[in-house]
Amino acid sequence: MRGKFNPWQMTLSQLDEVAREIDLDESIHQILRYPKRCLTVSIPIQMNNGKIKVFTGFRVQHNVTRGPAKGGIRYHPSVTLDEIKALAMLMTWKCAVVNIPYGGAKGGIVCEPRKLSLKEVERLTRRYISEIISFIGPERDIPAPDVNTNPQVMAWIMDTYSMDVGYSVPGVVTGKPISIGGSLGRNTATARGVMFTLMNAAKKLKLDLFEKTIAIQGYGNVGGNLAHLLSDEGYKIIAISDVEGGIYNPKGLDPIKVSLALKESGSVVGFKNADKITNQELLTVDCDVLVPAALENQIDEDNADKIKAKVIVEAANAPITPQADKILEGRGIFIIPDILANAGGVTVSYFEWVQGLQAYFWTEREVNLRLRDIMQKAFDKVYRICGERKVTMRKAAYILAIERVAEATRVRGLYP
Ligand code: NAD
Repeated sequence: MRGKFNPWQMTLSQLDEVAREIDLDESIHQILRYPKRCLTVSIPIQMNNGKIKVFTGFRVQHNVTRGPAKGGIRYHPSVTLDEIKALAMLMTWKCAVVNIPYGGAKGGIVCEPRKLSLKEVERLTRRYISEIISFIGPERDIPAPDVNTNPQVMAWIMDTYSMDVGYSVPGVVTGKPISIGGSLGRNTATARGVMFTLMNAAKKLKLDLFEKTIAIQGYGNVGGNLAHLLSDEGYKIIAISDVEGGIYNPKGLDPIKVSLALKESGSVVGFKNADKITNQELLTVDCDVLVPAALENQIDEDNADKIKAKVIVEAANAPITPQADKILEGRGIFIIPDILANAGGVTVSYFEWVQGLQAYFWTEREVNLRLRDIMQKAFDKVYRICGERKVTMRKAAYILAIERVAEATRVRGLYP
């Protein structure tokens, strides 16, 4: 959510636009425009050199009308309250699109984790959680990993919360290690959801994916797993990139070999059997399907005209700026929006929470089948709205989400 735009203003204007489109009740529109709770905390920790340093952290719950708040925690130097508010609102819509019983939340700490030792990150995490502890819990607000947080950080969160209440509470957080109640299939869930969404789109658009070429920007949890899953299905990936740059081979890239090169050299660029390209070139490479799976604001008004793909699947959050979105829409490019395409992660987080509450764990096959079912239903609904209202897939996804949250708000009524 970094870049030229205020992320909170951007998400608000998206809500306002859809509110006009669906003639949303003015009172409900007002309620949805405000986050339910924003908490800013100071987090003093002892650094390894013995000195005390105070960090700033946030936790925002945008809406809890359909269930407990759900959303990741990010550690990054450019975290701001506006960014966290925007991401919390997006989580409300994402959970509503896939119809899982959650509202939206997000959290973050302003820090540079690369400059912290593991022990410092642990102290930071535990103190942050103790500062927000009365806000969170399996029935209130369930954090998850996001930028620069991982299963280990989730384990510290689970432990800190459990120590506070006096017994183990696996349902307080998702994305945990399997040994303490994590779900099988969670690690690949976002990528798998992206793949299911692409397959659903191909069916509707009558594209034979075996005949098409795919380019993926980003080779981390989402992009890397996606490359493997797509390749296992027999689809052809012709370009891949990471923060160091990209590789291109029109004959196709084998992710097993690319991952090996990444392991040996630290970057996909270390893969020999391909041409080197820049990340900008990856976005505009000659391909049928483009999957931005790295960062926000990658496709903007400067490169939108040069994109050659006919289908873009937003695996990353907000990879296309609003200006670029308009340009791509004008060019008839089919865009599957982030709140639908990458909702597989939060869906399997929901499965993890359910399994934790029941203390009964599913096989990976069960997880993947249920994920496929949810992603398919969500895609079909969004696609239908897209056709009926003659709007983009993005707007259709927002319409579906906002109508679901608005209906829940209407039937619950206003307290007191
Ligand atoms: P990650 O940190 O595992 O991987 C990010 C990848 O992007 C890495 O390969 C990195 O080298 C690459 N990258 C970083 N800067 C880049 C740049 N300037 N140009 C090109 N590549 C660059 O992160 P992730 O978990 O895969 O998340 C990727 C995106 O997907 C983010 O937008 C994230 O918010 C979104 N997302 C992730 C999940 C999830 O479950 N992991 C769920 C929903 C959305």
